Formats: sequence, C-alpha cells, structure tokens
Amino acid sequence: VRDEQPPLSVATRRKSRQIMVGSVAVGGDAPVSVQSMTTTLTSDINATLQQIAELTASGCEIVRVAVPSADDAEALPIIARKSQIPVIADIHFQPKYVFAAIEAGCAAVRVNPGNIRKFDDQVGAIARAARDRGIPIRIGVNAGSLDPRLLEKHGGVTPEALVESALWECSLFEEHDFQDIKISVKHNDPVVMIEAYRQLAAQCDYALHLGVTEAGPTFQGTIKSSVAFGALLAEGIGDTIRVSLSAPPVEEVKVGNQILESLGLRPRGLDIVSCPSCGRAQVDVHTLAERVSAALEGFPVPLRVAVMGCVVNGPGEAREADLGVASGNGKGQIFVKGKVIKTVPESQIVETLLEEAARIAAEMGID
Ligand code: SF4
Repeated sequence: VRDEQPPLSVATRRKSRQIMVGSVAVGGDAPVSVQSMTTTLTSDINATLQQIAELTASGCEIVRVAVPSADDAEALPIIARKSQIPVIADIHFQPKYVFAAIEAGCAAVRVNPGNIRKFDDQVGAIARAARDRGIPIRIGVNAGSLDPRLLEKHGGVTPEALVESALWECSLFEEHDFQDIKISVKHNDPVVMIEAYRQLAAQCDYALHLGVTEAGPTFQGTIKSSVAFGALLAEGIGDTIRVSLSAPPVEEVKVGNQILESLGLRPRGLDIVSCPSCGRAQVDVHTLAERVSAALEGFPVPLRVAVMGCVVNGPGEAREADLGVASGNGKGQIFVKGKVIKTVPESQIVETLLEEAARIAAEMGID
C-alpha cells in the first residue's frame, strides 16, 4: 500500500552474540523480539496455555512463566510442548527447578543472580545441562534483589552495581565455557536503567533483554518503557524487549510491538494519523479516531489512515496516508493519497473507511 522506500530506522544495531530461544533468534542481526510473561499460576496448565495462546495471537514472540513451586515445575513439560511460542522458565530461588526446566524442554531459563547465591556453586552443573540441551540462560538482574555486597560497595542500586552483578554472574558461567547468555539489568527508574544498559552494552557482547521493571499501570508504564526503550534502541542497544505493566499481559505485547513499529524496527501495521483537534474541528476527532482504530484493529494490510477534524487542512496534512477522512458540516470527505474521492454523511464515515480499506486489500489480493 505504501511506497516501498527503504524504511528509515534508528541507529545501527550494536553487534551482539546471537542466541536461539527455541525457534526465535535473539541478538546478532535478528529482529528485536517482543516478549511477555504469563500471570496465571503456571501449575494451572490450561489457564497458562490459554493465556499463552492469547499472547501469541497478539504478537508475542517469546513467553516467560514463573516457576516458584514444585507444582509449577511439574507443569513445564506440557506447557513447553503445547505452547506455540518458546517458553522461558523464570526461576529465582531453587536451583533444582533450573534442571527441571531444562529437562522439561523449555527454550531458556532466567535466573536472578541476586536471589541465587545458592546457585553459584551449581553453575557448572547448570552450564553443562543447558549446553547439552542447547538452552540459553538469561542472567536477569533486578534492582529490587541486588546482592547486599554490591549495594554496600556501590552505595545503593546504581547502574554500576547492576552491571557488576550481571557481569559477575556471566563470569561464573564463562568459567565453565558457557556463553549462551543474554542479560537484563532492570530498574524502575528509566534514567538508571538506560545508563545501566549503556554501560553493559559497552562492556560485553551478550544479547540484551530490555525492561523497565515495575513500570506501573498502563499509562505510566507505557511511557516509562517507551522512553527508556526508545532511547536505547535508537542507540542500537537491545535485542529483545519486555514491557512490564500492571495490566493484562496482552497489553504489554501491544505496547512492545508499537514501540518497535514506531522506531521502524518492524513493519508498521495500522497507523492512525489523527489530528489533535483544535478550534476549527467540526467533528469529535477523539471519538472518531478511537472508532476508526477499533474498526480497523487487526486489519490484514498495513495501512496509514488519517482522521482529520476539518477540511481546511485535513487532506493536505495527511497526504502521506493511504486513506482518510476530513470532517466538516456534518459530512466526511473521504480521501485516498490526499485526493478526495467522495463525501459521505458523518454517520457513514467509519463504514466508508472500512469499505475503502477492504477495497485496497482486495486490490492487493488479500481478503
Ligand atoms: Fe485543527 Fe483541522 Fe488541523 Fe484537526 S485538521 S488540528 S481540526 S486544523
């Protein structure tokens, strides 16, 4: 639909060592992937698989499940086998669950060095088991569970402390010749998080999993994650992302995908170009934009659709759109590529846009 010009994108990606999380390549020249985490009890296999199916349908590429108990560990073989996307087991305190997850066929295991001091003397065995199965390990450092030794040394949760924790844990695996690793150094403050990832990116070539931990409810968490990921990805830092929201995980995936689309790191799907409205508006632009967005959600063709509040500037401002509407006098001027093709009553704007979108899809041979 859109002109096939090479997409403008952000800076050259940092060169990282590629790993495979199941079928999904992470790092190197692989596209930045979006992941999320289930909120169900992992031991509730049906509920967990149902949520994974919803996440998959919303564009999630890798899913993580929490494994805090033996019941959860026992559920892993079925979940790993039936999930449509690679499953990462998230393990904090119990080294035995790491082995269980590897045995269960999980695509990767996340461990938290701050919570796994008991793990350190088992790193050799974990490295061997993971290597035998070709399973990568994520070293997932969290501000909230940093080793007290590092807190004391650095005087708090600083970027340096987060990085030292991650690289220390990596060194333990490296001693066992294991480098099938990706790293995260999460903090709830984007400023600290950005600096930590910058330092980490400069000090190693491991693939990096970006996350702002405990980012908050949808509005605040979306902004924190967008700002932090945007800053880092624009510098070429970051190989996979997880948006953390106090909201259903499908929302995390939507936000993650939108961040990557906004940065030109993946093809744009539906792009609503709507004006902010002003004193010239002759329609409720906010409501109309929401209705058009909802009506075209999941449309099979990438479309840029303009929703403009007046005919004064509407078509001109949205010349780059595939189609759009400029409203005035209780009517909507429907335009394609900036040219008005018809005028319809306001009540028919949404259905007309849908018809035109379907026509464009049909011209491309897509139902
Ligand atoms: Fe105002 Fe019209 Fe521009 Fe919308 S398109 S912001 S209503 S001038």
